[in-house]
Amino acid sequence: NLSLRLEKVANYVRKNDRLADIGSDHAYLPSALVLNGTIDYAIAGEVVDGPYQSAKSHVSELGFENKIDVRFGDGLDVVELEDNITAISICGMGGSLIASILDKGFNAGKLSGKERLLLQPNVGEYTLRKWLVEHDYKIVAEDLLEENHKLYEIMVAEKSDQPVEATEADLQFGFLLKEDQTPLFKKKWQQELQKNQYIQTSLEQSKSDQTEKLKIVKETIQQIEELLKA
Ligand code: SAM
Repeated sequence: NLSLRLEKVANYVRKNDRLADIGSDHAYLPSALVLNGTIDYAIAGEVVDGPYQSAKSHVSELGFENKIDVRFGDGLDVVELEDNITAISICGMGGSLIASILDKGFNAGKLSGKERLLLQPNVGEYTLRKWLVEHDYKIVAEDLLEENHKLYEIMVAEKSDQPVEATEADLQFGFLLKEDQTPLFKKKWQQELQKNQYIQTSLEQSKSDQTEKLKIVKETIQQIEELLKA
């Protein structure tokens, strides 16, 4: 059984996509998608031996060795253009790590621009959205979910043939998430507001000079307050 988090990501995989799941760990996501008949080919990439072995054994327990290709390697190194991948998922890591995996892959010519990106950063959403925008990826769907008292964002991106524009608020809060401010979205930003207010108090009590950091935190607080007012 998939976690709610991966189940939500799975919803954005299309029938017969050829999926590359990078940082696959146990290969749970591709396995579930093969099991329910959505896809019949996937690459599960892992760069750490333990998770790579877990992926291998999970895939062989299910008898999916001919459908899920478990490959050892860093990020998108495991993908070749001849694999005709149509969807790439990178989930359960920080947004800046996801962005660096994409960046390295982009520079190595591993992205054809035809694949849909399914990304689930645990933190660092701003950095990831910024990378996407700067590389002309348009965010076509966004999701927010709560599991085990944690809030997770999901973003689905596709290459655009035009430059993609974004405001600071788009990057920080999510293009689509901020449009339909769901109760969960409000909860997330209430929490972030409190976190930043706490940081502000700590910085103000600090004995060393925190002027620069304080400036950033105050700006963030102001942006969140504006968002929640709207
Ligand atoms: N994607 C799964 C999920 O969302 O449940 C597993 C998430 S797990 C927290 C992150 C996995 O990414 C780890 O197994 C780690 O070894 C792998 N990983 C980290 N950096 C990687 C990279 N550059 N290339 C491939 N895998 C990587």
